[in-house]
Amino acid sequence: MAHLDGKTAVITGGGTGIGLAIAKRLAADGAHCVLMGRNLERLQEKAAGIDRARAERCDVTDPDSVRKAFAAARETRPVSILVNNAGIASSAPFHRMSEDEFLRIQDVNVTGVFRCTRAVTDDLRAADYGRVINISSIAGLSGGPYISHYCASKHAVIGMTRALAAEWAKTQTTVNAICPGYVRTEMAEGAIRTIIEKTGATRDQAIAELAKSNPQGRLLEVEEVAEIAGWLCHPDSRSVNGQAIALNGGHSM
Ligand code: NDP
Repeated sequence: MAHLDGKTAVITGGGTGIGLAIAKRLAADGAHCVLMGRNLERLQEKAAGIDRARAERCDVTDPDSVRKAFAAARETRPVSILVNNAGIASSAPFHRMSEDEFLRIQDVNVTGVFRCTRAVTDDLRAADYGRVINISSIAGLSGGPYISHYCASKHAVIGMTRALAAEWAKTQTTVNAICPGYVRTEMAEGAIRTIIEKTGATRDQAIAELAKSNPQGRLLEVEEVAEIAGWLCHPDSRSVNGQAIALNGGHSM
């Protein structure tokens, strides 16, 4: 018997990149995964390739959409694992950062985490096993130029993680954040395109620029993030609570 047999795991942004890798990892441990995101067709196609997985349309910026998606997710059993992975990024120097753009990022990356976590709060507070895993970023632990809005959002996610872990410490649910450096996904591709556009660098030079932020001099692979999520979901990881786990090849935070 696998240790997540019979447990439902919701993964927001589960149709691509890090979220999809986490869904595959948790399914391999027996979980019934519900992949959520806005692009239902893509989610359904990816879910079809994962044992016991299904797709639910969910826009984390829309309270009604979140309510409906989570009601569907818990139709057969309560949600035991929530992976708040949906996220967006952009870049702009602070002197050109509009309030609309600042708020757009917070709405997905922070308020989205709040909405989805609220949607499973009753399940998790009563459960004999529960996990919330928030995908923050190295940008949640340190600052960087041109991403003040993204840094603010990812720092906020760590704050929410720590507060909730303290508040729920006497329950059987742990709340942790994973903070990766650059991971080879569509989001990192966006950063690579921006460097090429702004500096005229080649693709290899742009990748090397991103890799410099990791002392190991490389981008992470999605499976490396998924492995940590899988480990956090193991019943024996229950003493790990309220942590912001940095994955960046040795950069001390
Ligand atoms: P992707 O762009 O591949 O994934 C982002 C996911 O978020 C998509 O599946 C998208 O699905 C979903 N999403 C975006 N907006 C919404 C919304 N309003 N409602 C629901 N889902 C939404 O990038 P990654 O896999 O890299 O990103 C996953 C997480 O990892 C993000 O939180 C990101 O900030 C974080 N991260 C990424 C790093 C990297 O270098 N790649 C480094 C550190 C952290 P859909 O379009 O279907 O809605």
